[in-house]
Amino acid sequence: MRHANVLRIGISRCLLGDPVRFDGGHKRDRLLIDALGQTVEWVPVCPEVEAGLGTPREPMQLVDNRRAPRLVTVETGVDHTEALRRFARQRVVELTALHLCGFVFKSASPSCGLRGVPLFDAQGTDRRDGIGLFAQVFMEHFPLIPVEEEHRLHDPHILKMFLERAADFDNSHHRA
Ligand code: SF4
Repeated sequence: MRHANVLRIGISRCLLGDPVRFDGGHKRDRLLIDALGQTVEWVPVCPEVEAGLGTPREPMQLVDNRRAPRLVTVETGVDHTEALRRFARQRVVELTALHLCGFVFKSASPSCGLRGVPLFDAQGTDRRDGIGLFAQVFMEHFPLIPVEEEHRLHDPHILKMFLERAADFDNSHHRA
């Protein structure tokens, strides 16, 4: 049961400080977590760990093209595209029942980044126009839920706008 004034927002799990990154580390965003304090109930998701890739694991990158990117390991070229997509399609259905009103994604991640993720074409050139596979499936499934990357929320104006949009979404979709 959720407190009346608390927004339930999904987040890339490494941003909360959980050691789920490929190297066993995390990317705790203290500024963001401290700023939101009691106003948010976080729902953590790590697509790569939840899809069964384990920690630590070989780092991955997006390759090919923006319309049909593939997620492959950097050194050995193992293709995890289908495993990640299958997981993502199942996870967004589960998340529907939690009535999220926003999601904070980890920038530059081939699974979680929202925009400008490194994406290497056939010539090995980084196009920097990729979208993380999980983030893409999430936005297709929840086209109206406000989403942001963590570093943009360090700007107080963008943070305020994000929280207002999340509260509006919550009021109109979950509390009507
Ligand atoms: S960026 Fe996403 S996939 Fe990578 S460690 Fe963080 S939550 Fe997991």
